[in-house]
Amino acid sequence: MNDTVYLVGFFCAIAIGFWLGRRDKRKKVRKSKERLSKEYFIGLNYLLNEQTNEAIDTFIKALETNPDSQETFDTCIALGRLFCKRGEVDRAIRVHQSLLARPSLTKKQSLMVQLELSRDYYSAGLLDRSEGLLTQLVEVNAGFQVEALELLLAIYQQEKEWLLAIEIGKKLLKNNVVSYSNLVAHFYCELAEEQVAKSNTTEGREYLKQALKYNKQCVRASLVLGKLEYSQGNLKESLKALQKIYNQDPNYISESVPLLEELRLEQSGSVQKSVNSYLQKCLKDYPSVAIVLSLAKEIEMKQGAKDAGKFIAEQLARRPSLRGLNQLIDIHIGIAEGKSKKNLGLLRELTRKLSDGKPLYRCINCGFSGQELHWQCPSCQHWGEVKPIHGVEGQ
Ligand SMILES: [Zn+2]
Repeated sequence: MNDTVYLVGFFCAIAIGFWLGRRDKRKKVRKSKERLSKEYFIGLNYLLNEQTNEAIDTFIKALETNPDSQETFDTCIALGRLFCKRGEVDRAIRVHQSLLARPSLTKKQSLMVQLELSRDYYSAGLLDRSEGLLTQLVEVNAGFQVEALELLLAIYQQEKEWLLAIEIGKKLLKNNVVSYSNLVAHFYCELAEEQVAKSNTTEGREYLKQALKYNKQCVRASLVLGKLEYSQGNLKESLKALQKIYNQDPNYISESVPLLEELRLEQSGSVQKSVNSYLQKCLKDYPSVAIVLSLAKEIEMKQGAKDAGKFIAEQLARRPSLRGLNQLIDIHIGIAEGKSKKNLGLLRELTRKLSDGKPLYRCINCGFSGQELHWQCPSCQHWGEVKPIHGVEGQ
């Protein structure tokens, strides 16, 4: 219904504009335009009756009758876009291919149709064809540079061609689209993770350096660097990398806690002390249940379960948390005996059911939630916007 209203308004506006603008022209020209106007309304009528193939034929015929008409060209472009948006990609391709076959098109018009056609191919999953057209457009550089680069970038992300994606991201940055620095950093992180998985630490380190060059706030680069340094036995360097997250984005501190615990278990007194004082600082400034439980583990190891339980209970009174409650019950189950132990077991079962299946991460852009951290949101495809959930059921 909205499409229909849009179309009626759109075509009426074109028809009125056409009439007002051209009424003082010579009779011969008027005759031609009147014929064009008639074809518009025939095409519109077909569209309203959902006879889309007939509508396409009519509009293309209008273009043949008046090859120099900008109005007809714009109408065909709008029609193709509408089909593409509605998922009728075959029809969009037909409109744009018919347009492209018109010898009367100017160079600029021809390039514009190529861009539209590459969008159609992309929507149809014909990535190679889309890429071919877009590469030509980028080389020509005739006014559609940013649109073509953005579509190429989407293709290379789908294909996980990270080096090509970086190249395009850098071209977009040269076109002053600054928001792409975050994406370029993530693409470098993708490459770094591939290299780290293959134990190519030198290459991995270099890619992470590039990631941080493009985005100093890239938490992911710090996390991967922390893991890389830890795998090489560079404990202090690993801790240094993880501590950067405090300033980069404290929402993600909880993601570094498992590795911080690994570092704490190493036989290095200074690192152990530094990890604990860092966790204390995080608890004070950016408290989360992951930090509370990690500090509780340390207390349990040094002072025993009762003190650990007391610490968790104090923290829970300040910031209620299901995960904290579960841990507190577990500690008391370990200490209790007889009927109390049995009752605590029942309570634990209940709280487990409450927390099971609850999402741990949510995208701040589209609201997608899940139990895994995705650096690229599977729903809206944005990078670095899926974050740990805080609050009673989260961190
Ligand atoms: Zn999202």
